[in-house]
Amino acid sequence: MIRYAVTHAELRQRINDIAPTWLDKARERTEAYRVAGNYVKPPSDIWSEIKRAYMDLQGYKCGFCERRLERSEFGNIEHDVEHFRPKGMVEQWPPASAPERANGLNFSLGAASPGLGYFLLPHEPDNYLISCKTCNTAFKSNGFPVEGARELNMESPRHTNERPLLVYPIGSFDDDPQKLIRFEGIVPVPAARSGRRRRRGQTLINFFGLAERDGLLIERSITIVNLHLALALASAGSTDPTRQIAQHMLQVLTSDRAAHANCARSFVALWEADQAGALAFSEAALGHLLSVA
Ligand SMILES: [Zn+2]
Repeated sequence: MIRYAVTHAELRQRINDIAPTWLDKARERTEAYRVAGNYVKPPSDIWSEIKRAYMDLQGYKCGFCERRLERSEFGNIEHDVEHFRPKGMVEQWPPASAPERANGLNFSLGAASPGLGYFLLPHEPDNYLISCKTCNTAFKSNGFPVEGARELNMESPRHTNERPLLVYPIGSFDDDPQKLIRFEGIVPVPAARSGRRRRRGQTLINFFGLAERDGLLIERSITIVNLHLALALASAGSTDPTRQIAQHMLQVLTSDRAAHANCARSFVALWEADQAGALAFSEAALGHLLSVA
């Protein structure tokens, strides 16, 4: 995961640009949930109207696993609008069918709330992000582990004392995901040594299966081997035309819009500090690719 920088005003401007009446409709519906004291499923959803604003902001990537998704008109099929905090209920996590997902998490993960979700947030722009179908449907569903009590009646995720274990990557009011997760080669690890940030990093890795999903491991391996080649070639003689290509590839592979940017940035940082260590990770990534070729 990485952070997608945008201000409160810019995000709402992006929404206004593609759906000028959306924020008014959202306010109206939120008011109805407030009166009802719960989320009441309306006859039609409106969040898909603003999907493109989040797709563009996130560089057509899943906000959780950083897979690149389709940008064209077919992108609407691949991208899901995800409610970060579940709107209608909160399921127990880990699910009873997959208790192993909490392996190694020896801290409280919060209680389920079967009849009530975060009912004032179904139309809150700060509660949306785009995710792939695997992250959304197979892993996230209505789970939302927290430390301590839930604040189901919160009005804005910007102003809350709730302590979620997942992280919201849009804007800068939550932790920077790169302070929670870093990568050793293709393997995600908690970025912090102790404390709440470490617990969040551990939970995120477990929650989304980030260390196990084979598609992610293959894509990250390709990123790392490409980065290794680009880093080696970028320092070649200044007249070498290959050098320019390599330097541009370094930009492409580490930008916010690059798939697996957190993994790529961890590798570049290691290359700068410990080239032999980076080489070992590149060889391991290549070994992984050869093993599945
Ligand atoms: Zn994903």
